Amino acid sequence: MVLLPIVILLMGLGVPLSLGQLAPVPDIIRLGALFDGTEVTPLEAAFIHGINMVNDDRSILIRSRLTSAIDKVPQSDSFKASKKVCQMATSGLAAIFGPSVPSTANHIQSISDTFHIPHIETRWDYSFDRGDYAINIHPHPSSLSKAYADLVKAFGWKSLVLLYENEESMIKLQEVLKYPRHVDTIRLTVRQLYTDTDDYRPLLKEIKTSGATKIVLDCAFNKIEKVLKQADEIGLISDYHSFLITSLDLERVDFSPYKRSNVNITGFRMIDPASPQVSHYLKKWNYRAGDGKGEFHPLYSENILMYDSVRVVAKAMDDLAQIEGFSLNPISCRRSQPLEYGPKLAEYIRRVEYMGLSGEVFFDADGFRTDFQLDLLEKRRDHMYKIGIWTPDVGINVTLTQSEVEGQIVEKLQNKTLRITTSDTTPFIMKKALDVPKEALERMSFEEKYEGYVIDLVKELAKALKFKYKFHMVMDGKYGNVDPKTGEWNGMIRELQDQKADMAVIDLSITLERQSAVDFTMPFMNTGVGILYKKKAPPAPNLFSFLSPLSLDVWIYMTTAYLAISIQMFLLARVTPYEWDNPHPCKSDPDELETQFNVKNALWFGIGSFLCQGSDILPKAISTRMVAGMWWFFTLIMISSYTANLAAFLTAAKMDVPINSADDLAKQTKIKYGTYCCGSTNSFFRGSTIPTYTKLNAFMESAKPSVYTSGNQEGIERVRKEEGAYAFFMEGAAIEYHVERTCDLTQIGGLLDSKGYGIALPPDSPYTSTVSNGILYLQEAGILQQLKIKWWKEMHGGGKCTGSGGEDSAQLGLPNLGGVFIVLLAGMIASCIIAIIEFVWKKRILLQDENESLLAEMWGDFKFAVDLRASDTKPVPKEGSRAGSKSILNDGSHYGTNILEGDREGRKTDHPDDESPYATFNDNYSTTKSHKG
Ligand code: GLU
Repeated sequence: MVLLPIVILLMGLGVPLSLGQLAPVPDIIRLGALFDGTEVTPLEAAFIHGINMVNDDRSILIRSRLTSAIDKVPQSDSFKASKKVCQMATSGLAAIFGPSVPSTANHIQSISDTFHIPHIETRWDYSFDRGDYAINIHPHPSSLSKAYADLVKAFGWKSLVLLYENEESMIKLQEVLKYPRHVDTIRLTVRQLYTDTDDYRPLLKEIKTSGATKIVLDCAFNKIEKVLKQADEIGLISDYHSFLITSLDLERVDFSPYKRSNVNITGFRMIDPASPQVSHYLKKWNYRAGDGKGEFHPLYSENILMYDSVRVVAKAMDDLAQIEGFSLNPISCRRSQPLEYGPKLAEYIRRVEYMGLSGEVFFDADGFRTDFQLDLLEKRRDHMYKIGIWTPDVGINVTLTQSEVEGQIVEKLQNKTLRITTSDTTPFIMKKALDVPKEALERMSFEEKYEGYVIDLVKELAKALKFKYKFHMVMDGKYGNVDPKTGEWNGMIRELQDQKADMAVIDLSITLERQSAVDFTMPFMNTGVGILYKKKAPPAPNLFSFLSPLSLDVWIYMTTAYLAISIQMFLLARVTPYEWDNPHPCKSDPDELETQFNVKNALWFGIGSFLCQGSDILPKAISTRMVAGMWWFFTLIMISSYTANLAAFLTAAKMDVPINSADDLAKQTKIKYGTYCCGSTNSFFRGSTIPTYTKLNAFMESAKPSVYTSGNQEGIERVRKEEGAYAFFMEGAAIEYHVERTCDLTQIGGLLDSKGYGIALPPDSPYTSTVSNGILYLQEAGILQQLKIKWWKEMHGGGKCTGSGGEDSAQLGLPNLGGVFIVLLAGMIASCIIAIIEFVWKKRILLQDENESLLAEMWGDFKFAVDLRASDTKPVPKEGSRAGSKSILNDGSHYGTNILEGDREGRKTDHPDDESPYATFNDNYSTTKSHKG
């Protein structure tokens, strides 16, 4: 084998092999071929073209000329075929080609074995058991099947349908069939195309209903277009479906009907139409673009294999001719005379290495073409485009760069109008308050009728990714839940699965269950389940709420303590000698002693200390000081406690709610609670294994009437209507929005879980990662944050309940503190009454001997009190001036009554017209003096 190229080189240089003589070769080399049917097939044309091209080639078999011996055999007529071979062989044959029908081909193979004629085949043959003279140039199915399995693996398909035509497909796809054995997460469904009809629609419909999106199609070349056409009618030719077609002639399929579709169609090819050999081949064929479609195309793989096989045999004969030479003896079937050089020819063919149109041709030790390279193709518009290669050793090698792949997806997206399903959920999508007639409303676009976070989000996303879109409301109004019995989804998830929508954009939570049914982008907002509850109505304003910090008992005990302390002070001051003083300090030997702590002063001292004002009377004895000290200590503690508790009491009154967490809810039965019936919050409780949540779920499930609502809005209304008897589990983002605007609502406790809202796309959507990148961009550009602030804090009354004028304000109003004013007023009134009583009491004593009018006296005093011009001083009435004056002096009073007496007289005599109290006092003073004088 190593010597072969050296020998060929020497021969090429014209060095004779032995004794300067050329090895003998036949002048005419006959190649026999059997073709099926009666018409001239493209295969026959390729065979003849191959012979002509060898004859034209000045570098190969230059001393010989190839001729063809062609015959036709009716399909499956083995007897006739063997007869024809024998006929051809009588004139000598170097090799026999064809036919394609397996039964006939097998028969010819046994004849070729008997008569040592190399038998060349181009058909698909899976058998590993072949005759010594049989050589098949078709890539071996075992290698092809590995290529398909490698592709499925490279694409990461998790679920696929294998749509096959006959049992041979099973062999071609055996490696794909074995695939789930290695990866247990793969779901593989095998379906056979009907054999009795060409209408595959019912089968395709079943596949569509099953939700399968990855299809491996293995069928005869001439059925591919039919299957695709019917698949298109059923809706399987969409952006979300991928086809792997096993034919090596995908470039010969007419994809023009799917030019505008983004359906993903992939496959392999052997022939690179851009190679120089192929151009040369086509030129010699006189091929003009548009000539020969499908199997009639010169590049149809079977035709190319036929051409390549002629070239391979020619190359082998050329090698043999140059090394050893050969001859072709007539073969007689009757006399069992074989081809003498047959074994040599077969050996040289097996060892050949030739760069053909179908790639490099060489055979393994068993004579199979197992080592070859394939080009990986993908449909773009209406033609197939090379995106990588496959080799047995390396497997799939995609040559497209990541940016090329992304650019391609972006390009696809830009040509699309995405159908977006959504639902009416505040503040994501809200009806605008429009005052237009119904007909005008119907004519308006979705964006003219609705507004909200989602509309803005999609607008920004479309701006970034340059796609067009069209909103619609989800048909059943639901987000998407799976029916545990049927396993079927509803809501937006279902619309995505049915490809009735290309995106679902709303506050759609990303959950594991949903992720298995559709694709999700990365989250555009994060949240979790919270508890919405009605704030307790603030207690009716109480004028005396300043009394609340201390209980009634404490107030009573405190008053009692005050009285007790005052009395004790009074008594101790009497008992202790150190509280008795000389009332006349000028007299060194006093007749009497006095104590300052009479009952009045003791009470005054007690109250002055209690109110932290002190008093001008202070104890002097140790005992009384002890009492005073203790009382001050008591006062200090009581006043501090009162002050501290007053603030706490007033704030606590506002936050007073009977529940503070989910645990509190679970522990009681008085307050009912529920969720939106058909969302992820409900699923969260149903699926939870945490004891508190399972308990909550059990309660909700069994509650009658139902505690579930048909939406968040209904839940909010129920919370408000039931006045604390109903709590609603709602997502934090929605709670935040409503609490901001509806001031009687509040959130209880923190969030029970953590989740994100994502954009959902149909399963295996090609756009998922592109849309995810778009969201990431909006997040990094701060647009998501801006939108959140706009729709949560600013629009539609945001900040209503948290602003300075909000109900939560910490200011205390008159209704809370009015009582203090009342006490003050009461004190003022009481002091006036006491003043009157004091006045009356004194006057009564003063006027007991006279028939003076008490009212007139009072009127005079009042006028004096309110006269701003009146002096701040008064004369001291003289002792014993009048009968009444005695009693004044006895009583210790120093002014007033005498003057008033004088006033009466003075007014009567000297100043009858002068009404001024000031004047009256002056007059009185002079009158009194004149009396004395
Ligand atoms: N975000 C929820 C969902 O995606 C809907 C609201 C809820 O369940 O609280 O299902």
